[in-house]
Amino acid sequence: MSRVTPASAVIELAAPMLGEPEKRALAEVIDDRWLTMGDRVRRFEQAFAGLHEVEDAVAVNSGTAALQLSLAAFDIGPGAEVLVPSMSFVATASVVVHAGATPVFVDVEAVDRPHMSICDARRRVTDRTRAIMIMHYGGYAMDLAAWRALADDHGLLLFEDAAHVAGLAGAGTVSDAAAFSFFTNKNMTTAEGGMVVLRDPERRRRARLLRTHGMTAHTLDRAHGRAVGYDVVECGHNWRMDELRGALGIVQVERLAGWNRTRRELAARYRAELGRATPEIVVPFDPGHRTSAHIMPVLLPEGCDRPRVVAEMRAAGVQTSVHFPAIHRFEYYRRSFGDVRLPNTERFGERELTLPLHPALDTPDVERVVSALRRALRVAR
Ligand SMILES: *Cc1c(COP(=O)(O)O)cnc(C)c1O
Repeated sequence: MSRVTPASAVIELAAPMLGEPEKRALAEVIDDRWLTMGDRVRRFEQAFAGLHEVEDAVAVNSGTAALQLSLAAFDIGPGAEVLVPSMSFVATASVVVHAGATPVFVDVEAVDRPHMSICDARRRVTDRTRAIMIMHYGGYAMDLAAWRALADDHGLLLFEDAAHVAGLAGAGTVSDAAAFSFFTNKNMTTAEGGMVVLRDPERRRRARLLRTHGMTAHTLDRAHGRAVGYDVVECGHNWRMDELRGALGIVQVERLAGWNRTRRELAARYRAELGRATPEIVVPFDPGHRTSAHIMPVLLPEGCDRPRVVAEMRAAGVQTSVHFPAIHRFEYYRRSFGDVRLPNTERFGERELTLPLHPALDTPDVERVVSALRRALRVAR
């Protein structure tokens, strides 16, 4: 998809990559008239598993459902504590609350390294800790081997919130379960949708049961005469994916590697431009860090008026966002879990600004964003 951005057009923060292949895929589902949990969802699971070089995967209807299914497949519930990053989207913590367990918030490594800190995590392990949930912030790969070692030292489960790393090798290969999201602003999309990768085939089988009411046979099996009745062997949920989303997923998986390459090239371009034009801006992580380049986070100078920067950028036609406001500072979490202090997370959350990054951007777009930021910084100081 090539295209010239008019100088006046708004540069979007994120944009779903959709075209003729997606339209055709959706139209085929309509023509076939089988709308949910059919062959397309199954083919999407297999294609996604192939991409990540894992045995199999379980499709669900959101990234949040993927996280919930991960916890449910291992009976994480009342009495359990789960270590979670506060520097994440709120779903990383809310799924733990929904399971009846307690999220224990962990600080990030440093103000320019917004990955959950392994040292701080170790300090927060108690005899009620059952699991660790890590999140590959912004698409930057966590050190899975180190987290596996920590989990094994304490007999804990290791879960990945892999919402930012679709297409990044390694996710789902070392942990007990990895949950991906295909929401519209992620590296690939099915509008709403998610996927769980579970290493253990028994857990995977259980996850499939829990996804659809714990039923031993599904509508498709009965329609094809493969089953007559069914039993219910688990108290399950409806976390099913439909065929329209499955069809989108099949097409998007094929194109994901190319998009992720473009994202990485754009991120490298950003680093170069920012280093030249705005040396006071800090870009988190080392340039060589393995990443799916999901977002383009930067740290504004200390004391900088961020709302002013956001307003100036908007006036210049550049969308921005914040990834993320710290979860433990949200009103609900303060009320429910007390006044937790995580200094590095709080400092990062106060200074972070996310710049536009998606595969439809080009080098002139990046240059336009950086010069808008340079002007905004002068005003907001
Ligand atoms: C998007 C996202 C989710 C939730 O995914 P949905 O598909 O929107 O339910 C969870 N965790 C993180 C880190 C995310 O970015």
